[in-house]
Amino acid sequence: MTECLFCKIANKEIPSNIVYEDEKILVFKDINPEAPVHILIIPKMHINSVQDINESNSNVISHIFAIIPKLAKDLDVDEKGFRVVSNIGEQGGQTVKHLHFHMLGGRNLSWPPG
Ligand code: 5GP
Ligand code: ZN
Repeated sequence: MTECLFCKIANKEIPSNIVYEDEKILVFKDINPEAPVHILIIPKMHINSVQDINESNSNVISHIFAIIPKLAKDLDVDEKGFRVVSNIGEQGGQTVKHLHFHMLGGRNLSWPPG
C-alpha cells in the first residue's frame, strides 16, 4: 500500500513521534492530539480497518492489546484510566484507511462520544 499514509509512517518515509516500536507494530503520537495523551497504535502490515480483521491476521491485534498495559504505564495513565478506540468507515469517523487504535488519556473523557 504505497499510497497509504500510515504505511509510509510505518516505513519511516514520513516522520512521526515514535513512542514504541517492534517488528509488528508502531506506536506514535497523534499529530492533532485530542487529549494530553493521544497516541496511535498501528500494525506495520496494512489492514484497512477492524472490518478486515480475520483469523489469519488477528495475531497482530492480540499483540497490540498485550502491549497496551505497558504503554499505559509508560505514559502514566494506568492508574487514572484511559480509552482505546478504533473508528471504522465513514459513519465511524475513520479518516485514515489503515487500521489504528487511538489511545487517549490524561483528562476526563466524556461518554458517549459525538
Ligand atoms: P481516524 O480519524 O482515522 O480515526 O484517525 C486518524 C488520526 O490520525 C487523526 O487523529 C489524525 O490527527 C491522525 N493523523 C493524520 N495524519 C497524521 C500524520 O501525518 N501524523 C500523525 N502522527 N498523525 C496523523
Ligand atoms: Zn497502510
